[in-house]
Amino acid sequence: MPQRIYVDGEWLPASGGAAIQVVNPATEEPFDEVPRSGPKDVARAVEAAAAALPAWSARPVTERAGLCAAVAAALGERADELTETIVNELGMPIKLTRAIQVGSPIRTFMSMPEVAAAVAFEEPMGSSVVYRDPVGVVGAITPWNYPLHQIAAKVAPALTAGCTVVLKPSEVTPLDAFVLAEVMHEVGIPAGVFNVVSGTGPEAGEALAAHPLVDMVSFTGSTRAGRRVAELAAAGVRRTALELGGKSANVLLDDLGDAAFEDAVRKGVAACYLNSGQTCSALTRLLVPRERLQDAERIAADEAVTYTPGDPRDPATRLGPLVSAVQRERVRAHLRAAAEDGATILTGGPDAPDGLERGYYVRPTVITAVTPESRIAQEEIFGPVLVILPYDGEDEAVRIANGTPYGLAAGVRAADQDRARRVARRLRAGQIRINDGAHNGLAPFGGFKQSGYGREYGRFGLEEFLTTTSVQL
Ligand code: NAD
Repeated sequence: MPQRIYVDGEWLPASGGAAIQVVNPATEEPFDEVPRSGPKDVARAVEAAAAALPAWSARPVTERAGLCAAVAAALGERADELTETIVNELGMPIKLTRAIQVGSPIRTFMSMPEVAAAVAFEEPMGSSVVYRDPVGVVGAITPWNYPLHQIAAKVAPALTAGCTVVLKPSEVTPLDAFVLAEVMHEVGIPAGVFNVVSGTGPEAGEALAAHPLVDMVSFTGSTRAGRRVAELAAAGVRRTALELGGKSANVLLDDLGDAAFEDAVRKGVAACYLNSGQTCSALTRLLVPRERLQDAERIAADEAVTYTPGDPRDPATRLGPLVSAVQRERVRAHLRAAAEDGATILTGGPDAPDGLERGYYVRPTVITAVTPESRIAQEEIFGPVLVILPYDGEDEAVRIANGTPYGLAAGVRAADQDRARRVARRLRAGQIRINDGAHNGLAPFGGFKQSGYGREYGRFGLEEFLTTTSVQL
């Protein structure tokens, strides 16, 4: 479909070489391709963004936010097409794709007028006036696991702030970004304000992070690539926001009754397996009181087998394939290594699921009998793999929960809400869900430690793209 990249309001050929194939993970068949941008294409896009900055940033914020709401409405009109596109490129089950992968970015763009109204763009302070100004040209680099959602989390607030954007979407799931570019064009986002350069990380991503006219790089992806992006940006003293990986804990406290405990374990499996475990904030470590370990193992294994992997286009499917052969092999290698290290695989494992000869499927897996320090309990696996860890006492639960290099998300389950809150306040994670508290698209999202820094969504997400100017009167 997309033969050209979107630069300065035009569709232009890219100069980086052979087009990049997009593969359907359920069939293993390439079904589309996108241009491969090289450094020259990136430079052209960044120059266009820099040229468009003065006029865009001078427009009233209400107009910019209103255009984002118009983008939301136009995306909504193309929701069926977007759902189809994302199911084909990512493999997430269709019902979830529509609700999350398409619904959430629309809500993010739609929220911009409300979010902008919550920020004081001009504030008297004694003898000064403090202005909140756009940081400038933003390079946005995004991953494949929630492709349009992660794009919206950057692009909507950056544009509302008055920044201009060059987006480099994941080369694994690039197609939805082209639909967004068409929508931007159609609703009248001026030329150069939003640009899309498809390409790989080492080619287009590094060129973007290193370009001298880029003022800020907003990156979501792996810790490995985030570190590289920050190094490149640091050379030019460019601001960065990094949204990286996680290994989040779900702490079940010891005051839960039997029924509540069972419910917490079953919902804990769901919180791990969403999007086949390819969720940065997935609750992948289930922490249970030691005396309830066997119950947790039995219930989790019983729940896991209900996640029969299958065709993501079938509305009954809850577990689709992983996104790519590389990702499937990575997860299988982790499972083989865990078994060699003495872990017990209660259900699932590295073998292909029965009856699925094609597609990058992995069996829903539950692992136990590992220490909190073992690799399978420390590293981000990014597959449908739940690790159960027993603890003795609340202090140990907190220590284990905080005991990884990451700090993105966490869950706490307890009968006593006050106690759950006290425990939550001891966890070093950017967003913590108590007793299945509902997702809030206006609350900030981001990490501690190697999960990165920077916050997305709502007012905090908008403020990431602002800096201050103080004028003394
Ligand atoms: P990735 O790091 O491989 O790729 C992310 C993006 O970075 C892609 O666009 C890629 O092309 C680009 N990239 C790769 N190497 C680069 C380099 N050297 N220079 C510049 N750009 C480069 O990650 P992925 O596999 O696409 O996504 C999965 C990872 O993203 C997981 O670790 C997951 O936890 C993380 N993630 C984090 C959040 C969050 O908000 N914290 C959200 C979603 C995903």
